[in-house]
Amino acid sequence: MSTGIALAHARFELPLRHVFTIARGSVAVQETFIVQLGEGGERGYGEATTNPFYGQSIARMAAAAERVRPILAGATTDDLEATLGRVAAALPDEPFARCALDMALHDLAARRAGRGLAAWWGLDRSRGPVSNFTIGIDTIAVMREKLAAASDWPIYKIKLGTADDLEIVRELRRHTDRPFRVDANCGWSAEQAIALSRPLADLGVEFIEQPLPPGDPAMAEVFRRSALPVFADESCAAEGDVDGCAGRFHGINIKLVKCGGLAPARRMIARARDLGLAVMVGCMTESTVGISALAQLVPLLDHVDMDGAALLAADIASGVRVVAGRATFPDRTGTGVELLGGALSTTSRADGT
Ligand code: MG
Repeated sequence: MSTGIALAHARFELPLRHVFTIARGSVAVQETFIVQLGEGGERGYGEATTNPFYGQSIARMAAAAERVRPILAGATTDDLEATLGRVAAALPDEPFARCALDMALHDLAARRAGRGLAAWWGLDRSRGPVSNFTIGIDTIAVMREKLAAASDWPIYKIKLGTADDLEIVRELRRHTDRPFRVDANCGWSAEQAIALSRPLADLGVEFIEQPLPPGDPAMAEVFRRSALPVFADESCAAEGDVDGCAGRFHGINIKLVKCGGLAPARRMIARARDLGLAVMVGCMTESTVGISALAQLVPLLDHVDMDGAALLAADIASGVRVVAGRATFPDRTGTGVELLGGALSTTSRADGT
């Protein structure tokens, strides 16, 4: 008999190895929101990193989590589906907070069942793609150093959207034969995307992520004329966005924080498959808490970007480790996460109130 789910949350800072730059800004320390849910002597963990582009702060996520404290107090992970549904219904405009709560609920439910999460879903976690390593925008010399420092990774995702995009890829190609994928983060026009696609294909690039800003009607033309497959990221934030990607993109890159966690991500994967879209899941510089949840989905994917924790100078948790693109799972239930500083106090609140 359950006595409800106890909520605690905390703010952590994740120092990055390198200042990370994409087409719209830079970050040196990533702030992150960690949720801990307890039921029947077990604890589950979830995470969402803050993101000014999406208006997501610690205060906002903490306030959202507090709104569902009473719901959780009267709920159980014995009926995970129902509890996830009630949390989602209470926080329709809070995908980041929902993501942290959804991960923690899944982790907790699988732990209470005594299973790893992927196995609890019936997935074989030895299957699935290896992860790329992301190289953020910098001077060409620094991007070359980042590539050299990650020389054991099997695939590289190169952030573009600069005045020297082809030059960057040509220079990096001189130092490795491994596949590249590129992410323009909305930084190109349709003409640029189409014109760049052929030389990028010749340089061993597999696909282009989000060439144009979301909603740009020229995406259908890029889809028809690009020499490379195009993947949606900013254009495919939530469940309702998947259908609109058919005929405009060849695949989608799902971010757990943007769609609200593992349950919506699994529904998006299923819908994308129905529409014939390829599927990737990407990360947002999460710690091992978020990456360990993401890693459970890998058997369902064509591509994965789960280098988040590998970009950190210091982590806050142990769990799934991604080394040279491959995930190693700890011999633990749920997502396998344990906070390095020990469990949060049951009265811990990320906003300090
Ligand atoms: Mg992207």
